[in-house]
Amino acid sequence: MNLKVDLAKCDGYANCVAAAPGVFDVSDDTGKVIVLTDRLDEESSDGVVEAVRDCPTRALSVDEGSS
Ligand code: SF4
Repeated sequence: MNLKVDLAKCDGYANCVAAAPGVFDVSDDTGKVIVLTDRLDEESSDGVVEAVRDCPTRALSVDEGSS
């Protein structure tokens, strides 16, 4: 599963951090999301899917690519 982040859309709501705290953080400097890991394993992918769904600005997306 590949995660894509559109920083132009991110408005720092941190819903993604609530959904997957091990994967996302929000920068104090920019107010934008930071992706903490590229490794989306089985455990983190549920939270990531939830984060994509919960992001109010649709800044996050996933596809099923292998890398
Ligand atoms: S939920 Fe969306 S808008 Fe909010 S910090 Fe995460 S990516 Fe950005």
